Amino acid sequence: MNTLGIKKQFYKNVIFLDWKWQIKNRLKGISFLSSLGIIPEKQVEKFRTLLSSYHFATTPYYFSLCHEMDYSDPIFRQIIPSLEEIEFRLPGSQLDPLAEKVYSVTPHLIHRYPDRVLIITTSLCASYCRHCNRKRFWSTKPWVINKKEIEQIVFYIKRNKNIREVILSGGDPLFINQNYLEYILKKIRQLQNVDVIRIGTRIPVVLPMRITSSLGKMLRKYRPIWINTHFNHPYEITKEAKKAADILSLNGIAMANQTVLLKGVNDDLDILSELFTRLEAMLIKPYYLFHCDCVQGTDHFRTSIKKGQELISKLEGRIGGLCIPKFVVDLPNGAGKAPCGPNFLEKIDGDMAVFKTWEGKKFIYKGASGA
Ligand SMILES: *Cc1c(COP(=O)(O)O)cnc(C)c1O
Ligand code: SF4
Repeated sequence: MNTLGIKKQFYKNVIFLDWKWQIKNRLKGISFLSSLGIIPEKQVEKFRTLLSSYHFATTPYYFSLCHEMDYSDPIFRQIIPSLEEIEFRLPGSQLDPLAEKVYSVTPHLIHRYPDRVLIITTSLCASYCRHCNRKRFWSTKPWVINKKEIEQIVFYIKRNKNIREVILSGGDPLFINQNYLEYILKKIRQLQNVDVIRIGTRIPVVLPMRITSSLGKMLRKYRPIWINTHFNHPYEITKEAKKAADILSLNGIAMANQTVLLKGVNDDLDILSELFTRLEAMLIKPYYLFHCDCVQGTDHFRTSIKKGQELISKLEGRIGGLCIPKFVVDLPNGAGKAPCGPNFLEKIDGDMAVFKTWEGKKFIYKGASGA
């Protein structure tokens, strides 16, 4: 399949908007990559090695969002495999830096924080992100959680009364067969101690036509549900993505977004500010901006923490508070997420506090010590 010309043709075609067609016609394999002209003859073997560790698949829809056919394009860079994944390593990168294996309490259930647990529901996704922090799954046989594992998880949550929130993650939970997903949701909703169900998914970004009114109506029955999605660039905010967000919000689903700060994709003030304001307008609250985890195979995407802090500080005041996510580093060894500012309070001295305003001016505040 060739690229931009076909993109225009597709858009005129209703088939393009059918999610089943999108899944059936996913772009995969080395032959598609060759057709992009990114594999010089000498590197075919290296690309084979790359794909044997880190596979490649994406939807025609998501691929059609590329503006340029090279790694300078923010969409291309997120989905098209690059030799840097196997050839470039920074010190400290690991297979599982968040120690998710260590914190697993039953198969596929991670309990790191007191009041919430995370279920890894499947290894499958509609489109594979090159920066994925669960790349370690990519070499296992594809799997979806089975009924016995769900029973064990339900049993664990029932016994641990502190748990009030259950996060479905993956892989992509919305890529699971709808009836089976409903089976899982029903089981969790039956637990008295669980208030909130959260679903982490990239479907609204890479396959938004999958958010049908039938899926919306099904999810509606298991509210309160939060959908945490993963938009990284304004190119991803399309008519289709807006429609998906609309279906979810009209069905009473709350939405938030987790962006990963990625070198060459979105490490830029104007890009982030456009992304976050447009998400707010879709009723999706920008929730986290993640420093890219130290995961093997993703090192070339990592910016400095300082860069992240600079960007997030400059957003303050420039766009509304509802548009600004928390900048966090997910600390290795399962130490949890650490917010990294910005900090506008420079010093407290008795009753006097020294602030920096959003415009960068010094401000002396009296009344710091309180009653
Ligand atoms: C990130 C994460 C959560 C959710 O943390 P929030 O700060 O509530 O978003 C829960 N469990 C695990 C294992 C996580 O990695
Ligand atoms: S959708 Fe999420 S789990 Fe799937 S490849 Fe992308 S980052 Fe990884």
